[in-house]
Order: sequence, then structure tokens, then C-alpha cells
Amino acid sequence: MNEILIATKNAGKVEEFKTLFERYGIKAVSLLDLDEELPDIEETGSTFEENATLKSEGIREILNIPVMADDSGLIIDALEGRPGIYSARYAGEPKDDKKNIEKVLNELKNVPEEERTARFVCVLSVSIPGKPTLYKKGFCEGTIGTEEIGNRGFGYDPIFIPKGYQQTMAELTPDEKNRISHRRNAISQLEDWIINQS
Ligand code: IMP
Repeated sequence: MNEILIATKNAGKVEEFKTLFERYGIKAVSLLDLDEELPDIEETGSTFEENATLKSEGIREILNIPVMADDSGLIIDALEGRPGIYSARYAGEPKDDKKNIEKVLNELKNVPEEERTARFVCVLSVSIPGKPTLYKKGFCEGTIGTEEIGNRGFGYDPIFIPKGYQQTMAELTPDEKNRISHRRNAISQLEDWIINQS
């Protein structure tokens, strides 16, 4: 494998993945680099794995090249795993991070600190023509605070306090977040797999 397509239009993620693959002589291109517009693939699965697969296998079927996709979200124990795969649009359409946070804080308003455990999850799926799809799953453990603090990052970062920290994810520098994030964790596992392939 000397080239892989990353099935995302998120420029931040693209850079992270390009750096990873470059180290192993694999050129990563993304949906931002393609001339043709691919059909939108709906995330209709009931797990992170299913949604990542829909994207990586769906695009592999069209282009017949190696494709990697990711799916991520927040799992809160006191909410039986919600928002989970519905993290992006938890408070409904259109996608609104502020409203999602308000909904979570409201649902947790009577939940004591020790029961506010949660984790971010990231699933990466790699679909190579003629091979079974491969998955890597990364986590970042933490708790949900009682108010929004910090203005970095995105999504639920202002209410997520990573394990071992006093600050929210939205107060950490991008470098600090990248060292401990669920995405970094999944990428590290993929890295081990790439090394074993070469
Ligand atoms: P996606 O996998 O990029 O579509 O992410 C789904 C949703 O999960 C995002 O819209 C966020 O609400 C949430 N999410 C995923 N990763 C993070 C993160 O690193 N910080 C905060 N929220 C996240």
C-alpha cells in the first residue's frame, strides 16, 4: 500500500492522518483533494464501527482503492452511553455544539460528581480492496463537569475533564489534547499495525 484515501473533509483530522501515514512512506489524500464529488454516505449504523465501515467500505466500492474512515463520540455512563453515535446532533438538527452541551448538562443536573464518568471514543476503519476491513478503537477517559469552561477544541470539550486533570479539554493546548485524545490513541494502534505490515 503506498496511497490511502482518508474519508473526511475535516482539515484538522486530515493533517493529523497525513503526518501519520507519511512516516511510513504512505501518501494520504482526503476528500478535499478529490476532483470528483462522491455521494454523501449516511451514517445509519447503530455502532461507531458500523458507521466508520459504511464510509470506508462505501468509498472503496466506488474507487477501488485503500480507504480509511473514522467515527467518534462521547459516552456518558449515567446516561446509559448517550449521546454515543448521536453525539454530533444530540440536540437535533442543525448540528449545534452549544445546544448539545446544554442538553447533556440538563440531563445530568441531579447526578453527583462520582457518577459523572464518561469517555470519548474514536473508531478508525481501514478498507483495502480484497481484504477484510480492519478496526482500531481508541478511548479517552474522564468526567463531565457542571458548567462550560474553556474555549479551545470543539464539541463537548468545554464540559469534559480528562482523567488526571483539573481542567476541561477545552482549556488544554492543542498539543496537550493531541497527546491524550481518543483519536491519538486509535492512531497509535494503527501505527503498530502499519509497522507490522512493512
Ligand atoms: P465525528 O466523528 O467527527 O463526526 O464526531 C462526532 C461528534 O462527537 C462531534 O460532532 C462531537 O460532538 C463529538 N466529538 C468527537 N470527538 C470529539 C472531541 O475530540 N472533542 C469534543 N467532542 C468530540
